[in-house]
Order: sequence, then C-alpha cells, then structure tokens
Amino acid sequence: MSEGPLIAAVEAGGTKVVCAIGTGPDDIRDVAVIDTTNPKDTLHGITRFFSGARAQFGRFEAIGIGSFGPIDLDPKSHTYGYITTTPKRGWQHIDMVGPLKTQFKVPVGFDTDVNAAALGEYLWGSGAAKDPLIYLTVGTGIGGGVIVNGNLLHGLLHPEIGHLHVPPPTNKEVIAPECQCPFHKSCMEGYASGPAILKRWGVKPDKLPPDHPAWEDVSDVLAHGIVNLILTLSPNRIVLGGGVMRQTQIFELTRARVVRILNGYLQIPAITQHIEQLIVPPGLGERSGILGALALGQAALRQGR
Ligand code: ADP
Ligand code: ZN
Repeated sequence: MSEGPLIAAVEAGGTKVVCAIGTGPDDIRDVAVIDTTNPKDTLHGITRFFSGARAQFGRFEAIGIGSFGPIDLDPKSHTYGYITTTPKRGWQHIDMVGPLKTQFKVPVGFDTDVNAAALGEYLWGSGAAKDPLIYLTVGTGIGGGVIVNGNLLHGLLHPEIGHLHVPPPTNKEVIAPECQCPFHKSCMEGYASGPAILKRWGVKPDKLPPDHPAWEDVSDVLAHGIVNLILTLSPNRIVLGGGVMRQTQIFELTRARVVRILNGYLQIPAITQHIEQLIVPPGLGERSGILGALALGQAALRQGR
C-alpha cells in the first residue's frame, strides 16, 4: 500500500464528474460519480463528497483537478482555474479551482482532463517512462494531452488535438461524411467522435458490429491525425482511450493506416516493426483520468501551489 500524502482527485467530464480520495493507484480509499448538471449543484456535489471523505479518512493535503475545457491555465490570468468558452450550456466562465481552494485551503493542481490522463498513463500506465507521450481520447469529443521532457505541454493555451485538420475519410461504398464540428469543415472530432459516428450511421457506435465500414472511416481519420502528431512531436508512445476505442479492432486498423500514410518515410523499427508498441490502449483502463488528477494534486503539493 502506498504511503504518500492523501490527495483529493477530480475528473470533471461533460457528462459526469469522478471524485476520488487516496494516495496513489494502489490506494484509492473512496470514489464517487456525480452527474454534470449545472455548475452550482455539481460543484456542491464535489465539495460535499470531499467534506465527507475528510471526516472519514482525515485531512487531505492537496487537490488535483482534470477538467473538460477549454480552460484557463495561465497562473497570471485573473480567470486562472476557470472553464472558459466551452460549448457546454451553462458552463462558460466557471471557476473550478476557486471554490475548492476556498473551502479546503490546500494546494490545487489544475489541468485538462486529457493532460491529466496523459500524466496518469506516463506515471503508472502503459506509457510509463515513455516520453514524449500523447494521450488521445475518442469519446463524446476527441481530445489529447501531451507529456514532453516529463512535463505536461502547455503554451498558448493547451493542446486541442481533436480539432486537427484531416482529410475526409475515403470510403468508396458510401458518400463522404459531413464534418460535425461546428467550428471546422474537416477535423478529427467532426468525423470520429461518438456523436459524429451516430449521426453518420444512425446507430449508436457501441451497437455497430466490428466489421462495419464505420471503423474503416474512424481509423482513417485517427491515422491522419496520428501521422501529423508523429511528424510534429516525435512521440515514443501514443495512448488511445475513450469510449469509442472499446471497439478494439480500431487499434489494428489505425496502426496499419499510419504505416500506409507515412509511406516508408520514417524507417525506424518503432514504426516498421513494432507499431503495436507505439500505439497502445491505456494501461490504467478507465482510470487514467482520475489517477492523473491525483498526480496533479501530488504535483501541486510538491510545488506548494
Ligand atoms: P466522454 O467522452 O463523455 O467522457 P466516453 O469516453 O465514455 O465518455 O465516450 C462516450 C462515447 O463513446 C459515446 O459517444 C458512446 O457512444 C461511445 N461509446 C461507448 N461505448 C462504446 C463502444 N463499446 N463502442 C463504441 N463506442 C462506444
Ligand atoms: Zn473541430
């Protein structure tokens, strides 16, 4: 059992929020799942869980939050710790860090849900010590987090990999799909997110059989995005998670397309011989995000934030 400090972790998603308390992956003392309704009730649900957890397990020393976004990660900004321009109704300009910091008076680590998941995978999952590492989630949306030189990649904002421009999938049997993203004409999320698959085929993605042409399309789109990521970031590991990736045949289809699209340009064994070790499922399964949030709390404690 882990002996580290007790940390409160929050994985805030667009449909549900996972809260956990523990010291590490082998020592999670309690978990709660709260529906993401309006900000007031949702934040209240989070603080209520952690107040109860504190009474039961003792004082926790930091909080880590991985949140859906876009979010403000600039410590100098007066809206640091806020969800900013999200399309999710009622959640624009919502302070996530402030209420928790005020109530519990401990350091708070804050990052995107996918950066949190990248950190979880890098520390304890299938990306352990692989750097650079990219974590991509293919679910209700598509998003990605990146570790470079042991640190989460921030910059102008944070990576928004789901909106990488890709060509439309080229399935000869059916008419080309329409990109469902309200912002872009041809992006990964607009073609390969769960809702985009549902819209195109009229069937929930979990109900589509493994040999359905939908998966050729999805793999085509993911492979184009991944090739762009390989060429820009030179990752040593790419972890693909999220609900849509439960259709595990997508892994093989995507790997094959990545090799095909690269077309012999990168003659390295990681691509030509062992691509199944480069593009992998999450080692932490569905727990990458919440454990990554816990790791954000650990980092905030170290930095005294
Ligand atoms: P979120 O992205 O909201 O955090 P998930 O990662 O679970 O949540 O992704 C939800 C999406 O994944 C939905 O669009 C759903 O239809 C899709 N999905 C869930 N299970 C499967 C499955 N077995 N096969 C394909 N798609 C799935
Ligand atoms: Zn887009």
